[in-house]
Amino acid sequence: MATVGSEGKVYFDNNATTKVDGAVLEAMIPYFSEAYGNASAVYGSGVAARGAVEAARGKVAAAVGANPDEIAFTGCGTESDNWAIMGAARAGRGKGRHIVTTAIEHHAVLDTFKALEKEGYEATYLPVDRYGLVDPDDVRKAIRGDTTLVSVMYANNEIGTVEPIGEIGEVCARKGVTFHTDAVQAVGTLAIDLSKLPVDMLSASAHKLHGPKGVGFLYIRKGTKIDKFMHGGGQERRRRAGTENVPGIVGFGKALELAAAEIPRKGEAMRAICARIIEGVMGSVPDVILNGHPERRLPNNVNLAFRRIEGESLLLLLDMAGIEASSGSACTSGSLDPSHVLLAVGLPHEVAHGSLRVSLSKYSTMGEAEALLKVLPGIVARLRAMSPLP
Ligand code: PLP
Repeated sequence: MATVGSEGKVYFDNNATTKVDGAVLEAMIPYFSEAYGNASAVYGSGVAARGAVEAARGKVAAAVGANPDEIAFTGCGTESDNWAIMGAARAGRGKGRHIVTTAIEHHAVLDTFKALEKEGYEATYLPVDRYGLVDPDDVRKAIRGDTTLVSVMYANNEIGTVEPIGEIGEVCARKGVTFHTDAVQAVGTLAIDLSKLPVDMLSASAHKLHGPKGVGFLYIRKGTKIDKFMHGGGQERRRRAGTENVPGIVGFGKALELAAAEIPRKGEAMRAICARIIEGVMGSVPDVILNGHPERRLPNNVNLAFRRIEGESLLLLLDMAGIEASSGSACTSGSLDPSHVLLAVGLPHEVAHGSLRVSLSKYSTMGEAEALLKVLPGIVARLRAMSPLP
């Protein structure tokens, strides 16, 4: 059989997507092949599917400190972001049409804000410091009488910076403004307790935590005003229409249950491997910058900018050496525009072009980090020798 996957390769692109855990796949299979009934049906296989969906909702809720009825499953993280932002902005239009986000959000958030601007909403895009941190005081100053929504990501998918979500949430709560966080990179990697965190809505996606692609959730704190986004059937307590992706939801429940239990151990192991990569590259390659915050960062993300290098060429040569990594978010790679995140932290265009994102999972090993460190200095030197840049 032809090889179609990453088998035999070092897979270092886990911020883009992750391998489905074997136990997750096993939990999902019966809901394709045996209990394939529609979860809204009243007969046996439908009732079994409904039971599995509700059990998964319970697991997801427990993992993030929410009540099960505050969790609505969606088709992906992108849908969760779109729904939170569009739904809350529209629900709040009686109060005003001003909405606030940051310059470093994922396009699932940024482009939703752009779409709302076309509908007549006014958006503020907050800047970040050179580490990618949002200042809660900037959020406070941006909020006006007609502001209805603030959306700030939990952790950045490109540079790994973890934002002060608790402080920003407090600012929003004091001002009576709905607060959404895109936690797609954080859920399953960082411990999150929504019973303590002042967040009204939170978005997550299963495929970032060893679950399947095509399933996400939106946490909606009880009492949060939000319009419907998907119209049709009465699924998800009439909040999100569309036949439930039962195997996907089951997989999400299992994946998050496993991930939440593993956070401390897994985080420590990944942090040690990342530290080795950073120290190894810094010690062997000149003219490198570590992007993102040195400490307040995801335990599984390293983002480096190499001067006088074109990121895409670096990725190709790494791929030829058996290492799969990224030079930005998967959605922006393939375009020649430098990452909006790297520009927002102040990197000049030519340096932003030379970035490398290495992102780990619980399956990553120190041996894989050593394999990267063995080939990377030579590849960088080769590319720099060919570079027209001074
Ligand atoms: N938000 C962030 C921060 C992400 O990293 C991603 C995926 O890359 C998304 C949203 C979109 O999630 P999904 O791929 O499930 O649509």
